[in-house]
Amino acid sequence: MIALQGDVSEHVGAMERALCGRGSAVQVRRAGIVPDCNGLVLPGGESTTLSRQLATTGIDQEIKRAAASGVPVLATCAGLVLVSRIIQGDTKVHPLGLMDTTIGRNVFGSQRESFESDLEVEGFDRPFRAVFIRAPAIVSVGKGVQVLARVGENTVAAREKNVLCLAFHPELTEDLRFHQMFLDTVGVK
Ligand code: GLN
Repeated sequence: MIALQGDVSEHVGAMERALCGRGSAVQVRRAGIVPDCNGLVLPGGESTTLSRQLATTGIDQEIKRAAASGVPVLATCAGLVLVSRIIQGDTKVHPLGLMDTTIGRNVFGSQRESFESDLEVEGFDRPFRAVFIRAPAIVSVGKGVQVLARVGENTVAAREKNVLCLAFHPELTEDLRFHQMFLDTVGVK
């Protein structure tokens, strides 16, 4: 769990509930820990700040190496911004380029700063109640990216190989299906 900034404690709580004692969520605030993790979570927060902190700590390079070697990554909200390849109209955030996506920050506009939506998700048998907070969204995807859910034209959940990204906050609801999807790829039984 990258724990530099943002809604880290909610994410740790949700992950511990999903793990049910089958592992633990370690909070990463410095370099040297990521290489020992079986899965990585990039929580929501402020992507400009997170991007700067990842670079100054050197954790950015460790995440890139881990992801390239196949370690599963769950990236939510600002995390979705960070794992993208291109950020529309933004020069302050240096994306990690883990997914072949182009994203827009705050695409739902100031009038929809926060909203909830019952999402139809590929592979889920009932909708997922998703909480969006100043949410980014994926505006275009490369060939290898599987779109899992949309709001209007925008993609809000997607997967490419070992990286799963969500524009909303699954840690703020009781529904742990996305956490379980991530833990399945980590190999937690
Ligand atoms: N809009 C924020 C950003 O681009 C993300 C908001 C969030 O993580 N809830 O950094």
